[in-house]
Amino acid sequence: MTDIPKSHPRYASLMARERIADGVRNGITSAQGMIAQGRGETFDYILGERTMRSADRATLAAAAALLLAERPALSVNGNVAALVPAEMVELASLLNAPLEVNLFHRSEDRVRKIADLLRSHGARMVLGESPDCRVPGLEHSRALATRGGIYDADVVLIPLEDGDRCEALVRMGKTVIAIDLNPLSRTSMKASISIVDNIMRAVPNLIGKIRSLSGSPREDLQAILRDYSNRNTLSDALLEMQEYITARMRELDTAGRSAG
Ligand code: ATP
Ligand code: MG
Repeated sequence: MTDIPKSHPRYASLMARERIADGVRNGITSAQGMIAQGRGETFDYILGERTMRSADRATLAAAAALLLAERPALSVNGNVAALVPAEMVELASLLNAPLEVNLFHRSEDRVRKIADLLRSHGARMVLGESPDCRVPGLEHSRALATRGGIYDADVVLIPLEDGDRCEALVRMGKTVIAIDLNPLSRTSMKASISIVDNIMRAVPNLIGKIRSLSGSPREDLQAILRDYSNRNTLSDALLEMQEYITARMRELDTAGRSAG
């Protein structure tokens, strides 16, 4: 791993790149995963690399949905495994939920490496190595699922997911929680709850909210979900991005005027 000084202004983003690059070298992340990371970084840049208010609200709703779930399940792909393996294991253990490896570009070797990585971080329930059913309406290996995991779950967390699979899981009647920096992706548009935030900020934030909400009466959690609108949250995310860009434009204007 390249040595990046902590003082570097783009430290967090450069570290994430290093993790993805390591993931590719270790056979955890696909080459296409690097492109997905780049697409995510672009959106992170224009939303100011911080958790927007709208994303924080979506994360609160996601925490409520996961706490109310009878059978929650968490999906893990090569980018998620490279970026937040320990955090995903912590989340699974808090919720007593299975982690299920699901890859768009599936190879048995990569599935096993990701499962081993999660187990090395202490995961107790890792599925995906022996799929026994399929998500209806999806072609090829990404349809593969496991009973007792995502297939039977009522609430599913799908970080950095493809729009098609998101839509197919929604069609199965599940509450689908996405983490995706692009508020315009099909995934964000189709999910029940879309957290428009970097997974490296979103998962720790989600863990914090689950901890603080656990023990709340079910009616309070239900009220959080009742008040939540994904449409409004996505349009607020776009507004917050617009505000951020407008503020940067004003800075340029001011700098231009003072430079004469
Ligand atoms: P869709 O099929 O939903 O339209 P897509 O084809 O645009 O999605 P993919 O490349 O299939 O996107 O999936 C990657 C998605 O994950 C992108 O929308 C990207 O913004 C998002 N993403 C990438 N890295 C991160 C990250 N670190 N945190 C959060 N989201 C990320
Ligand atoms: Mg896609």
